[in-house]
Amino acid sequence: DLSVADAAVKPAKTLPDAQTVTSVRHWTDSLFSFRVTRPASLRFRSGEFVMIGLPGENGKPILRAYSIASPNWDEELEFYSIKVPDGPLTSKLQLIQPGDEIILRPKPVGTLVLDALLPGKRMWFLATGTGIAPFASLMRDPETYERYEQVIMMHTCRTAEELTYGRELVENLKHDPLLAELYGEDFAKRLLYYPTTTREEGPFMGRITDNLTSGKVFADLDLPAMDAANDRAMICGSLAFNTDVKEVLEGFGLREGANSDPKEFVVEKAFVGDGV
Ligand code: FAD
Repeated sequence: DLSVADAAVKPAKTLPDAQTVTSVRHWTDSLFSFRVTRPASLRFRSGEFVMIGLPGENGKPILRAYSIASPNWDEELEFYSIKVPDGPLTSKLQLIQPGDEIILRPKPVGTLVLDALLPGKRMWFLATGTGIAPFASLMRDPETYERYEQVIMMHTCRTAEELTYGRELVENLKHDPLLAELYGEDFAKRLLYYPTTTREEGPFMGRITDNLTSGKVFADLDLPAMDAANDRAMICGSLAFNTDVKEVLEGFGLREGANSDPKEFVVEKAFVGDGV
């Protein structure tokens, strides 16, 4: 039967919701970032996440939630990923090369959006590990600087090497011609970066919660302590991190908001589970 033989040699049908990988960069043994083509119809708010994945053994796709790390004006989409040893998705995803296809369901959602917060003076982005991904999007969105005078990016990882993706991104932003043109030479002073390590010794160490409660970060950055009138925050890390930071922010008088009920801070999980 010719048609059967024919079907057997035909390449697999293009994946539904397929997007093509345009570049991949490995930052450490356990972290990489990659860029893919953007579906023409995909609109999203900076800070949102989508489901992405790869086909599984039995043809059933393995899909996971991923924050879009690129801003909404970018013509491509960027993602920043963990490599979980034996992780169903990331053990395969870490092998992608330019030209490969991934599955991307074009239905962005999430709580880390500017509309979920009331206007204020300062915006605090508080992240551990890959939790910086939604803020990589929001830090590159001019809308963030339209709404807030100052943006403070606190990022904590175990080692300095694990901070590199965020560090490079912030450095590049400080010399970004578009943001400089929009906001003047002083733009660099409006984006404050406060990276810390928890395991590796260095000038800046410690947990975000400790640096907030001790007042160290306020002293180091020459800022007043957080208050509900001026400060807004977005939290993205492990469940334990989110719970601890939430408590600290509530101690400063900030309240958790949502898309439908904007207040002073919002929270989102960077992953499900205990963390690696
Ligand atoms: P899984 O079976 O999904 O996870 C195995 C275990 O690895 C988990 O139980 C957890 O303990 C640990 N783990 C999973 N993801 C992480 C992580 N990112 N950091 C530390 N430990 C982790 N992951 C990203 O790498 N980048 C993102 O931008 C991102 N955005 C997310 C947004 C949301 C809203 C949620 C809920 C999760 C997000 N994740 C993100 C996690 C992601 O969905 C997957 O869990 C991750 O890609 C690992 O997939 P896996 O199938 O290999 O392993």
